[in-house]
Amino acid sequence: YYSKEILSVDTRNKVIGKVIILKNITEYQQLDEAKTNFIATVSHELKTPISSIKMSLKLLEDERIGAVNSEQKQLLENIDDDTRRLLQITGELLDLSQVETGKLHLNFGNAHPKNIVDYAVKAVKFTGEQKQVSISVQCDDNLPEVRADLDKTTWVLINLLSNAIKYSHEKSVVDLVVKKVKNDEIEFSVADHGQGIEHQYLSRIFERYFKVPGSKADQTGTGLGLAIAKDFIEAQSGKIGVESDLGEGSRFYFTLKKAE
Ligand code: ADP
Repeated sequence: YYSKEILSVDTRNKVIGKVIILKNITEYQQLDEAKTNFIATVSHELKTPISSIKMSLKLLEDERIGAVNSEQKQLLENIDDDTRRLLQITGELLDLSQVETGKLHLNFGNAHPKNIVDYAVKAVKFTGEQKQVSISVQCDDNLPEVRADLDKTTWVLINLLSNAIKYSHEKSVVDLVVKKVKNDEIEFSVADHGQGIEHQYLSRIFERYFKVPGSKADQTGTGLGLAIAKDFIEAQSGKIGVESDLGEGSRFYFTLKKAE
């Protein structure tokens, strides 16, 4: 049941009445579950044929099968890009449905922040180079280890870095800083000097499918990356947030617990 209480008060704030709304939402919940299961099944089913398209593309690019001219090569590259995107979207939808059905499985271990950082920075190296955006890393070797799901945390950091690069101006710098906050928490933060986000949208940025209206960068995103990042971090009892000024840039951060 969904319930809500509305109090009625007089001019001196004295309660003079109360309305209680009760609504049976079982049916909505069942529908929502059916939707989530549907998304999980479809994205799972799509993954296999898309992966096989990708493999065939790889074969076509192999000169041994026969040379392709430059026009054909360009077309193959386009298909390859779109296929990569399709795989990303299906992957995100699958992650999302796992979160929604409470099936998110975390694989905890102890990891040094530097390992997470090195891996993520390497993953976005090519994207950064294309825009001549460099990543300045500040991560002490003597920071304590964190207790985290390594894959999911790395995924989050890669996502924040890709966004930072995507919304940065060419030839700028993205600052990745890892530091100890409080006694038992480590904070990872990614700051860019790009377009920034209007204050009115900051509270909505982690919502599913939300994209800042009229955002300059390409509109190819799904608006799911940050929503999943939030789920991944909160499932590890961490916090995730953002500070931003329009035209100045944004700083996204998340925290993880120090290993025992
Ligand atoms: P998308 O796949 O659209 O990038 P995200 O969930 O990662 O989805 O981001 C949601 C929206 O938040 C983006 O569409 C963009 O409008 C805004 N956003 C995210 N990161 C930044 C950033 N570093 N600077 C400016 N806007 C950003």
